[in-house]
Amino acid sequence: MLEIKNLTVHYGVIEAVHDVSFNVNKGEIVSLIGANGAGKTTILRTISGLLRPSQGEIAFKGQNITKTPPQKIVTAGLSQVPEGRHVFSGLTVQENLEMGAFLRKDGEVKKDYEQVFKKFPVLKERRNQDAATLSGGEQQMLAMGRALMSKPELLLLDEPSMGLAPIFIKEIFSIIEEINQQGTTILLIEQNAKMALSIANRGYVLETGSVVLKGTGEELLASDEVKKAYLGG
Ligand code: ATP
Repeated sequence: MLEIKNLTVHYGVIEAVHDVSFNVNKGEIVSLIGANGAGKTTILRTISGLLRPSQGEIAFKGQNITKTPPQKIVTAGLSQVPEGRHVFSGLTVQENLEMGAFLRKDGEVKKDYEQVFKKFPVLKERRNQDAATLSGGEQQMLAMGRALMSKPELLLLDEPSMGLAPIFIKEIFSIIEEINQQGTTILLIEQNAKMALSIANRGYVLETGSVVLKGTGEELLASDEVKKAYLGG
């Protein structure tokens, strides 16, 4: 579904991502893990069309999207939940969800609110509340709900566990699995290697802009390198 070939991304003269290749098959959860500054967010923003690579190619459902504008990438079926959530403050929960459906042209949007509210009952309770007043975990749920309103085939999640209490992290990851089981393919970027690899079919380990290890979620969880560097021994 997603094929990244030899991707290199620069910020001015700084090379943040170097010759990275990986793929995500339809129906999978694939996790990219790595420490601060490894290049994870840069890769996601490049896939979404928000940054342009200096080299390499990105194909989504067989189409080259390397130079496609971000809104067209969303319309093609690929949505991103950005790091730090970025919900729209000053808008209610419901209005935030509406923004997620902004680019859709079918008339089914109302039905999809109900689907999102079923997955995240707390959003239904708070549908008329300003999004800025939600807790961190609730904002994460809203950002995920908003992305789901665009009906993505592939969902990119940037550090959904960041800043959340363990109980919320568990809940968010179990919802990610549920979204996947209902047919959405997932590319997950995480510093929380244990959670990310335990729900992943496959994973890649990034270090200073390059892929240094890959394997199934199980293989990576069992690998000495991953244990030492990311799982506290
Ligand atoms: P984190 O987990 O801390 O979010 P990350 O793996 O997502 O890290 P990136 O945010 O992709 O890492 O950053 C990769 C590298 O690119 C880092 O060295 C960072 O300092 C650099 N970088 C990121 N954004 C910019 C920018 N706008 N200008 C210059 N350098 C940047």
